[in-house]
Amino acid sequence: MTESRPRGEWLIFQNDLLLVKSRDPFRLPPAADEPLFKDRLGVTGVLAPARGGYPWGEYHSDREIPENYETVGLRELWLLGGEKLFQSAGTAFQMMDWKRNSRFCPRCGAPMSPADNNRAYACPDCEYITYPILSPAVIMAVTKDDKLLLARNTRFPKGRFSVLAGFVEPGESLEEAVAREIYEEVNIKIKNIKYFGSQPWPFPHSLMLGFTAEWAEGELVPDGEEIEEARWFTPETMPEIPQSISISRRLIDNWLEGQKGKG
Ligand SMILES: [Zn+2]
Repeated sequence: MTESRPRGEWLIFQNDLLLVKSRDPFRLPPAADEPLFKDRLGVTGVLAPARGGYPWGEYHSDREIPENYETVGLRELWLLGGEKLFQSAGTAFQMMDWKRNSRFCPRCGAPMSPADNNRAYACPDCEYITYPILSPAVIMAVTKDDKLLLARNTRFPKGRFSVLAGFVEPGESLEEAVAREIYEEVNIKIKNIKYFGSQPWPFPHSLMLGFTAEWAEGELVPDGEEIEEARWFTPETMPEIPQSISISRRLIDNWLEGQKGKG
């Protein structure tokens, strides 16, 4: 996996896909190719140096991509280009998605302009201001004795289980969101809710906040809508779990690691 990349490479998105010059070997659009795409870009920007300093742009969705170019999704990018590039592209994607959705004021419909050193869009007519969108979501590893709660979302590929997750609702603390989601989705009460870590999740603008917690009372009853199956697993009975790209996998690996010590 490539961790240091040539200067001047672009991160260009068409809808939610990234344009690449080649997949194998992995190559982003180089600065030398700018004439191929520069007049086909909508919103553009440049990432901060801490995020790689890449210029980025939104390729018009109704234009053909340059000859010999192809597109990859962000999840695939993590496998092709490594975690650091995934983070850079995720940041660029969130900025691009926010900017392309901020052209008109959602309150009065007037065209908006960049404001606050390009960190916001402001409406000249009604003074509405919009900042980049972040949607906090909680994700939690709940344990009962030496077992971990894993569940099957109805949208998962067949056989896949993971920890539970859900969006934080207005007026809720993160801990309240953790307890509510678990109760709504599998009908148990939990205790000892502790912060674990976080991960930006650009699909399209989530911030995943990971927690651990312990079972307190109740029997597992999947809600039947979002969750079709929920069970307690031991390290020996683990089902298929998500790839290492996500904080869900980090939560599961962290628990597995802790179980080893007890063996
Ligand atoms: Zn307005």
